[in-house]
Amino acid sequence: MMPLTSYHPVFLALVATLFTWLVTALGASLVYFTKTVNRKLLDISLGFAAGIMIAASFWSLLAPAIELSNSMDNLTWFPASFGFLIGAFFLAGIDKIVPHLHMGQPLKEAEGPKTTWHKNRLLLLAVTIHNIPEGLAVGIAFGALALNMSADSLMAAIVLALGIGIQNFPEGIAVSFPLRGEGLSKNKSFFYGQLSAIVEPIAGVLGAFLITIFTPILPYALSFAAGAMMFVVIEDIIPECQREGNIDSAAIAAILGFIVMMILDVALG
Ligand SMILES: [Zn+2]
Repeated sequence: MMPLTSYHPVFLALVATLFTWLVTALGASLVYFTKTVNRKLLDISLGFAAGIMIAASFWSLLAPAIELSNSMDNLTWFPASFGFLIGAFFLAGIDKIVPHLHMGQPLKEAEGPKTTWHKNRLLLLAVTIHNIPEGLAVGIAFGALALNMSADSLMAAIVLALGIGIQNFPEGIAVSFPLRGEGLSKNKSFFYGQLSAIVEPIAGVLGAFLITIFTPILPYALSFAAGAMMFVVIEDIIPECQREGNIDSAAIAAILGFIVMMILDVALG
């Protein structure tokens, strides 16, 4: 077998984001095996997912961005801060333009332009938007290998894909079950559940490709992905896992998710 480091970074980004998509699909496939999921368990898993994303934003994206700016002798703090800000604005912009509805909210609280779209489509769009940064993050981490392909940097990208993969499992559940609850068939609930993450390979390959053709943007791109992910965590995931009152357990789960990602990154990455 060829060592992984001999593959093209864009190809590796595709494989990694197909993996994160697959884990979402696995989570969504639980609709075939059980009628309901325990709300508290779901809130705890989503809190855990939030913790993973927060830690990944720092260790896998911002810290490498700062290290890179150091070696490129830019103002060390500038690309990380600017990229982070633009990434968050980008997501906030999409949030404004695309009509969507967060899970568990009544239809009248849909965000973005008013439409007559069905509730299910709006729910699906919310999760799809929120998966764009995750795909970008993984894609950009692999795209970064174009600049420095070493076993260490490859491992760091794999760790990020692993972390994003782990937290996609509850996210898959969080899309398919509410749809099932809205009266969709098992097949349809599963289909839309996995569909919400198909943007991950798309955003991932796009991000990786951009990096490989234009490496100087790398520190900006890494922090852009971090800012976009943090926006999703703060705007969507944390409020969602606290909506039903499981605030403390979701918060502790977030702390645990943070620690797990930190250990993965420090021990393996
Ligand atoms: Zn939103």
